[in-house]
Amino acid sequence: MTDAPTDALPCAEKLAFDTARQAQAAATVALHQHGTKLQIYVCQHCALWHLASV
Ligand SMILES: [Zn+2]
Repeated sequence: MTDAPTDALPCAEKLAFDTARQAQAAATVALHQHGTKLQIYVCQHCALWHLASV
């Protein structure tokens, strides 16, 4: 084993969504439930959608 990650993506811990629609829905839920404003974006590592705090 080395320290270099092999197939572990830097975003492995993040929530990931297949579509912008799903990501936006989750962001809307977070806004209503937690008052947290989140922005959705396409990840350059896994090509899925993640949420980022604004
Ligand atoms: Zn990702």
